[in-house]
Amino acid sequence: MNLAILGATGSIGASTLDVVGRHPGRYRVFALTANGSVEQLAELCRRHRPRYAVLSGVAENRDLARRFREFDAELLFGAQALEAIARHPETEAVMAGIVGAAGLASTLAAVRAGKRVLLANKEALVMAGPLMMRAARESGARILPVDSEHNAVFQCFSDKKFVRKIVLTASGGPFRAAPLEALASVTPEQACAHPNWSMGRKISVDSATMMNKGLEVIEARWLFDLAAERIEVLVHPQSIVHSLVEYADGSVLAQLSNPDMRVPIAHALAYPERVDSGAQALDLASIRSLSFEKPDLARFPCLALAYAALRAGGTAPAVLNAANEIAVEAFLAGRLAFTGIAGVIADALAAVPAGPAEDLAQVMEADARARREANKRVMALAA
Ligand code: NAD
Ligand code: MG
Repeated sequence: MNLAILGATGSIGASTLDVVGRHPGRYRVFALTANGSVEQLAELCRRHRPRYAVLSGVAENRDLARRFREFDAELLFGAQALEAIARHPETEAVMAGIVGAAGLASTLAAVRAGKRVLLANKEALVMAGPLMMRAARESGARILPVDSEHNAVFQCFSDKKFVRKIVLTASGGPFRAAPLEALASVTPEQACAHPNWSMGRKISVDSATMMNKGLEVIEARWLFDLAAERIEVLVHPQSIVHSLVEYADGSVLAQLSNPDMRVPIAHALAYPERVDSGAQALDLASIRSLSFEKPDLARFPCLALAYAALRAGGTAPAVLNAANEIAVEAFLAGRLAFTGIAGVIADALAAVPAGPAEDLAQVMEADARARREANKRVMALAA
């Protein structure tokens, strides 16, 4: 199967290449993409010999293209090339592993082209859920969730008629038990030190605020076509139970594994078959106990904001996502306190009224307005 890995230099990219490398006869690395990190992409091309490489965030450059030819890779430049690779006739599967709104256009291009889409880029679905699902129905694209919770639900989900609700688990992040008054002064390093998962910096901060779970509630709404009332969140600090599905008869099915993204990635790659992921087998006897608790909304106001945006509908989730991206970037750059993130998002949601999100232009317009509002708010807070 010819696989294009969008965001190959990231955490999801590395895990995907690890799984693929275990099954060389089964998967061919057809294209690898990265933003800015030339050396890292060159190294990946040297090792995996893709037919195409795409660099965004770098001006077109002939010397670079010549260098990549040594690895038999044709180097393309810019965001347009990402979409071209996503819909390339020889691309069979696309790992959507770019972080944030930057992944929307290429993910949507893959869906429109009817590809098998392994979806890690949850922000694309948060911004444009109805558009993406409609495009999949029209093109016949198969969207396979890579996000561990959604992959777990997918594995446990049979007939929607009989599903009462789904429960997404959350680790609670690094600040689950920290004193509330300490949160105002936590550093980016502390926020990115996740107890169970090693991930990119943006999603690590999202996990610390639990906006990650909020985005995942919206992602689940579209993937499984369930109303917000039927999507619950439960904090489960061990990150062993990845999510649960409750049925009409009271049965609850769950998927368990060690916290290792190679498990859902291998599942999405091989579905409906199964392949070795490289993850260590789960040893419940040594883990001994699993615990669960309700999320504390005073500690994690971002979770409530995400539910509110989902209920408001239309462009509200795109506004939520864009404001969050700006706030997280400001926090990582030391320009905003951790506890300022939720306020920036709430203000953007209040300033940009929700409108219809029927086409990409409307979504991108809301995204741009939300970024302007959030930036204004960050600057006002810094002054
Ligand atoms: P990361 O920061 O480690 O990697 C991001 C990748 O996207 C890099 O290859 C980078 O070059 C590329 N990229 C960044 N900005 C870009 C731009 N403007 N244009 C083109 N490419 C760009 O992030 P990650 O942790 O791998 O997460 C990727 C996505 O997967 C996110 O949407 C995240 O929410 C989701 N996800 C990640 C994990 C995880 O364990 N890391 C788990 C579940 C879901
Ligand atoms: Mg997740």
